[in-house]
Amino acid sequence: MRQVHSFAAGAWVPPGSGARSISSAITGDVIAEAGNDGLDVQGMRAYARDVGGPALRAMTFHDRARMLKALALHLREHRQVLYDLSFDTGATQADHLIDVDGGIGTMLVFASKGRREMPDAQVYLDGAPEQLGRSGQFHGQHMCTPLQGVAVHINAFNFPVWGMLEKVAPTLLAGVPAIVKPATATSYVTEACVRLMMDSGLLPDGALQLVSGGIGDLLDHLDCQDVVTFTGSADTARILRSNANLLDNAVRFTAEQDSLNASILGPDAGPGTPEFDLFVKEVQREMTAKAGQKCTAIRRIMVPDTHVQAVIDAIAERLGKVTVGDPRDEATKMGALVSGAQKIDVLEKAIEIGAEAEHVFGDPEAFAMADSRGAFLPPMLFHCTDPDAARAVHDVEAFGPVSTVMPYRDVAHAAELLNRGKGSLVASVITHDQDVAREITMASAAFHGRLYFNNRDSMSEATGHGAPLPHMVHGGPGRAGGGEELGGIRAVKHYMQRTAVQGSPDILTAIGQRWVPGAIETSDKPHPFTRPFGELALGDTFNSPSREVKLDDIETFAHFTGDTFYAHMDDEAAKANPFFPGRVAHGYLLLSFAAGLFVQPDPGPVLANTGLDNLRFKKPVEAGDSIKVRLTVKAKTPRNDEYGEVRWHVTLTNQDDEAVAEYELLTMNAY
Ligand code: NAP
Repeated sequence: MRQVHSFAAGAWVPPGSGARSISSAITGDVIAEAGNDGLDVQGMRAYARDVGGPALRAMTFHDRARMLKALALHLREHRQVLYDLSFDTGATQADHLIDVDGGIGTMLVFASKGRREMPDAQVYLDGAPEQLGRSGQFHGQHMCTPLQGVAVHINAFNFPVWGMLEKVAPTLLAGVPAIVKPATATSYVTEACVRLMMDSGLLPDGALQLVSGGIGDLLDHLDCQDVVTFTGSADTARILRSNANLLDNAVRFTAEQDSLNASILGPDAGPGTPEFDLFVKEVQREMTAKAGQKCTAIRRIMVPDTHVQAVIDAIAERLGKVTVGDPRDEATKMGALVSGAQKIDVLEKAIEIGAEAEHVFGDPEAFAMADSRGAFLPPMLFHCTDPDAARAVHDVEAFGPVSTVMPYRDVAHAAELLNRGKGSLVASVITHDQDVAREITMASAAFHGRLYFNNRDSMSEATGHGAPLPHMVHGGPGRAGGGEELGGIRAVKHYMQRTAVQGSPDILTAIGQRWVPGAIETSDKPHPFTRPFGELALGDTFNSPSREVKLDDIETFAHFTGDTFYAHMDDEAAKANPFFPGRVAHGYLLLSFAAGLFVQPDPGPVLANTGLDNLRFKKPVEAGDSIKVRLTVKAKTPRNDEYGEVRWHVTLTNQDDEAVAEYELLTMNAY
């Protein structure tokens, strides 16, 4: 029998008193035990705070992103171990791709976003600085720094790998250590994944610890520097979020709970349309993937009243082709539920739903696996004819392959039914009608964390109703728990404190490592284009000589480029325009002259100009005016082993020192 260990304060701790046994979903035999009442959970918290936190905070976002990438690649290399173990949870190979590969993929996305969208620094700047004083000597800047406690992640049984990695990746990227507590039923898979991560030697001590079994009194001593995230049932969420210590200390708590997710067949998408077939396919896939044990699975199927029978027939036909059986068997399309207890729970919930809806497909007592000792169930489809009067179909989550078809009269009615779920993780609408999509969004988006529209145009690339993506937020209001995860860098910010930092431009530049206008400009060094990346400092500035803009220049540029817009060619017409005093120079001519004024022509560390951001033309330039350029190093971001990106603050001024254009120039500079 497998002994599922915890990993506490740098050591593996075997199960002890109070350990619970874990059965195989396929055979019902006991295969493992987990839990130890003697686990020193407060010691784990102290270890995370004293050892893991400081080590992670000493790294930059880029260091941590590189670490995540290496970890993910290590897991990918050894994923077969996780596949092999996961079969006993009832999952098929296709399910492993969602859990194991999905988790690794999520980690890779955070690794990549950390390098691209976060600085190679320890402070994350949230938004642009705000000038708070008249002359520009007092600014404010929102800055995020890592919390100095620990993130406690309590997860559900259905995704033992993804459930951990999707939370751990943004936590570590933020610079915060994690204590992970998987659901006991599938903890042996999570334990194996944590062992792989520890064996890799990539994580600093204390960055990741594991509780297999109960968490003891871990929550009772957390404080404002800690975070608790919970994924699981609404009942457990209620118990945890009302923990007196969490309430007293306003400890961050976020919940991802169950959810009565729905899918709507658009009124335009009747039988014979590509959308109808797509709808049936998505519903069948969502009902049977992970044997319906997905928080995002479709529980309610809403169809125009005229198409109800056609939809039931089509879904039943597809479900009839789903082979339920041993997940190790390649012919199996749907495996087992996680445990006998889960099977009983689903059957009880199905009885509640059955009191309001006709059972139209899937008899649990008469199907191929009915006599197995494993936790097998057939997909079960119900039909509720009066969804307005019904309660259970909108309220009872049977966390298995169970779903209910219900009719709607018009789009407004469909949205009303959608909202009866009282908040969900995701709702999908299969429609090719843009008005339907807009109407449902306005009537219902506030009730869902994610809205998924799909049709003939998007179906070849669409990612699926049920797939939470690292780029998009996952979570929903009300019944879904009110929490939010993922969503790119948003997820990282959940483990940091946003502080409004106010001060002079020099103070804010020093803290945020991004030059703020008004801070010191250093212009007595050699031309910045002649100095490699490492020698450039924030505030290094180049002041160009000035150049007169002549009428001839404007004419030549107009005819050379073909931009003969009247404001550049016809004095009278330009004067009639509220923006121009008369004929003016092209904005792009000014930019080109600016490049000519600041460029250093010889081969050197500047490898390429990769673009510009936030360009504004502020004042027209007429023939006879002259312009000059100021170029200041605003931010530096290493990109790879050879070069890094330099962001330059560029200001073009005229002969009266008035700004005529402002932008940020991006160059790649060799080290
Ligand atoms: P659960 O029974 O609520 O358990 C969830 C987690 O909470 C497990 O790790 C469990 O540990 C732990 N737990 C239970 N009681 C606790 C307590 N008193 N103190 C501390 N921890 C406690 O849920 P589940 O049966 O594992 O998962 C199924 C539910 O999760 C479904 O309702 C599903 O909709 C929901 N879910 C939601 C999402 C989402 O993202 N929104 C994702 C997946 C699942 P033990 O296993 O050791 O008891």
